[in-house]
Amino acid sequence: MILFLHRKDLRVNDLPAFDYILARRKPSLHVLILDPHLLQQDRYLEHSGINFLQHAARLQELYRAAGRQLHMLYGNPAEVVRGLMQSHPVEELVFHEDHTPYATQRDRQLREVAQAAGVAVTSFDELGLADLRDFQRWTGRSEPYKVFTPFYRKWSEYLLRFYRPASPVHLRELAAADLAPGAAAAHSLPPELAAALSGHAAAIAHAGGPGAASAADPLRVLSGFLAERLPGYAAGRDRYAQDATSRLSRHVNVGALSVRGVYEMLLEHEQRETWLRQLAWRDFYLYQARLDPDFYCYEKRYDLSTLDQRHFQAWCEARTGIPVIDAAMTELNTTGWMPNRLRMITAMFLTKNLLCPFPYGEQYFRCKLSDYDNTLNRGGWLWCASLGFDAAPYFRIMNPVTQSESHDPEAAYIRQWLPELANLSDKEIHKPRPGSIVDLKLSRARAIEVYQSISRNQ
Ligand SMILES: Cc1cc2nc3c(=O)[nH]c(=O)nc-3n(C[C@H](O)[C@H](O)[C@H](O)COP(=O)(O)OP(=O)(O)OC[C@H]3O[C@@H](n4cnc5c(N)ncnc54)[C@H](O)[C@@H]3O)c2cc1C
Repeated sequence: MILFLHRKDLRVNDLPAFDYILARRKPSLHVLILDPHLLQQDRYLEHSGINFLQHAARLQELYRAAGRQLHMLYGNPAEVVRGLMQSHPVEELVFHEDHTPYATQRDRQLREVAQAAGVAVTSFDELGLADLRDFQRWTGRSEPYKVFTPFYRKWSEYLLRFYRPASPVHLRELAAADLAPGAAAAHSLPPELAAALSGHAAAIAHAGGPGAASAADPLRVLSGFLAERLPGYAAGRDRYAQDATSRLSRHVNVGALSVRGVYEMLLEHEQRETWLRQLAWRDFYLYQARLDPDFYCYEKRYDLSTLDQRHFQAWCEARTGIPVIDAAMTELNTTGWMPNRLRMITAMFLTKNLLCPFPYGEQYFRCKLSDYDNTLNRGGWLWCASLGFDAAPYFRIMNPVTQSESHDPEAAYIRQWLPELANLSDKEIHKPRPGSIVDLKLSRARAIEVYQSISRNQ
């Protein structure tokens, strides 16, 4: 029997592991472990946790619809797997790789448990659109690319020549096994998680089931975007009041859609270059996370002691007095969403104008973003804080007022999220409110001094 663990791959087709399991002609036990480490501090109630559980519930429904069973267990992954290996005739453990610090340590423990039980381990790398390990080998470079544009040029060439297509096997083709009686008892879900999951399952059923073309269905989100908004994407992506981007990230990041499936559908459309470039940014950060040993610990290379978190709470609570910042933080807190341009503006404002260390903002986004992804979030924060590789230069600081004036001249976004300002004129509404927590000009000058010294002394 093969033990297959779902992680950031919450779907039932286009999984390299499924191709492998089919070829091995063995029954497979399919398990999704809800890991207390990742759900600690009631994270399942925050937008990022809710998104994960919604997709977990959807996955369970997809299994049911395919006549197969997904076993959802709770606990430390190494302990759960050890228990399953004791109660089932497991010969091989199979999963898709992840390269965050926590995932690396977790998978090391899984390998140790398997080795101790004499069980083989097979893993597949499927997170990126390109096979990033093979890409690096093909470039012949000893060092990874540090700058996006040359990476993008080479990556585009690689994709044209060596693209590995989406995998054809569907869950229905596998002989999925059942849990041995009593095996789940030690790892059953705590009541609050079980209740949250059944709430999400009920909502899916109410919308017509996981295969129904409901508004939240990932494939429908993708096909709707490609059919209607792709042609206007390049011009509209930064006009955040127009909602011109795909909003696909929360589905892609949990693997509800494979990025290869997304790419193959994109190839059927014209005017794809700008959007493809965004998918390349995703691969660029995954590539850095894999190959740059400092990616997850850049803050240790800098002396950040001149920074402080005095204004952090006001930023979180949308109380800065800078309308576009407070509008964006209100949208984030309310819905779990914030458009990319506003992520850049709010992150630069926190790290530069408010001189707050970037990990504070990074952690806040971790809970609040529905599409939270450890790697992409860190890449975004490093860039905005002008730290790390290919970051914005330290003197580049977006002015939130001029950004708001140029990307949303009528301030439709501010009017939507801060209705108390809705009656102000187009000219007034972008400006700092009386009592705002910083002077934009003075704080900009100070930030340039401070960040110049931080980057010099690394
Ligand atoms: C401070 C900061 C934090 C961020 N945190 C996250 C995060 O936790 N999770 C996350 O998915 N993205 C994050 N991003 C990147 C980006 O904001 C989102 O990917 C994007 O807004 C998602 O919206 P969309 O799906 O409509 O994207 P689209 O514009 O439709 O782009 C399509 C896809 O390309 C990828 N993509 C787009 N922009 C970027 C980018 N700048 N970097 C990397 N990949 C990109 C995403 O997979 C996205 O779904 C962050 C950016 C910043 C500046």
